[in-house]
Amino acid sequence: MKFDPSRAIADYLVFGEFGDVNPSITDSSTFTFLDSIKMQELFEHEIEGCFLYSRHWNPINKYLSGALARLEDTESAQVTASGMGAINCVIMQLCNAGDEIISSHTIYGGTYALFKNFLSKFGIKVNFVNGMTVENVRKKITPKTKVIYCETISNPLLEVADIPALSKLAKENNIKLVIDNTFSPMIVTPQRLGADIVIHSMTKFINGTSDCVAGCICSTKEFIDSINDINSGSSMLLGAVLDSFRSASIMKNLHSLHIRMQKHGLNAMYFAKQFEKLGLRTYYPGLDSHPQHNLLTSFMNEGFGYGGIVAIDVGDEKKSHKLMEMMQNEKVGYLAVSLGYFKTLFSSPSHSTSSEIPEEEQIEMGLSKGLVRFSFGLDNDIEESYRRVKYCLERL
Ligand code: PLP
Repeated sequence: MKFDPSRAIADYLVFGEFGDVNPSITDSSTFTFLDSIKMQELFEHEIEGCFLYSRHWNPINKYLSGALARLEDTESAQVTASGMGAINCVIMQLCNAGDEIISSHTIYGGTYALFKNFLSKFGIKVNFVNGMTVENVRKKITPKTKVIYCETISNPLLEVADIPALSKLAKENNIKLVIDNTFSPMIVTPQRLGADIVIHSMTKFINGTSDCVAGCICSTKEFIDSINDINSGSSMLLGAVLDSFRSASIMKNLHSLHIRMQKHGLNAMYFAKQFEKLGLRTYYPGLDSHPQHNLLTSFMNEGFGYGGIVAIDVGDEKKSHKLMEMMQNEKVGYLAVSLGYFKTLFSSPSHSTSSEIPEEEQIEMGLSKGLVRFSFGLDNDIEESYRRVKYCLERL
């Protein structure tokens, strides 16, 4: 059956304390009890509508988590202080010392650095795979593998993961499939394709205003309860809690996500087609020429486009720097990392968000120094934006 995440969120009505349409922001770290036995009970298990301490849960974080569970069609969700906070919580909950993870090589540089340089401190080994095909992943499975990890649409090379096939492989081997869906909220619902845990950096499209960092984890009630366990939960014990003021503002922005994704997608598609016409090497899953275009089309939700991110290869480092500086001068947008903002952002991943990946590995995974990644904004007159970019490209 077709799934419409925008309808699922629209149907999620939250009534504030006084019937407020925007519920009150929880401005308390702790909560009072009239009955000390109730407090004791709450230490033992969750009680609906009862709160203890804001690092554990608070009403506004619950409301936003409820809406995110709707977005990702999962039983439950948990908001976190950043996307990295979400990734850490999930990995630390699923893996013990001695366990292994299989991860796509083309992932966000911060995740790569965590996997490559940090997890070894805890005895967790990560095996990277170029091209997350079932065959490649299968070869890396060992009895110690606990997690298969990848991004729905990868950062920055925009490879699309075959989530249904990876999920089948994961289930056959009793492994959890963890998907970072940061590039494709609304567009893809990984849980419906078999993913066990879905992560977002809400810093990006979900919030959409580049005014905070935030993350979330969407999964079964059992998993979300486990990360909140007072004695053994990674969310509770590592403490990557989202501030309640931010939860409130993200919750409001979430309600325009479907419209924003449509517009980001339309603008990105317009540019990708023009770039391709110019003969530039263009990475965009909406193009027929993209190797996983048909795969993505086969499982995406209808009506939200193919995402706002496009990458082009302008040849070398010098040209990529010149192009980005010129585009900023021409007011195309900002030379800045991050994505999902209402204005266009561009950066050169090889020297910024993927710089954690050593040069020889960048070459191996096909990440060129001339790559420029665009996160297209909500420009109304995209033809004028393109005229400006073309003007810059002609002067490289
Ligand atoms: N996942 C992806 C795909 C990202 O692009 C990023 C950040 O750029 C992250 C996770 C990390 O998120 P945050 O910066 O919110 O910690």
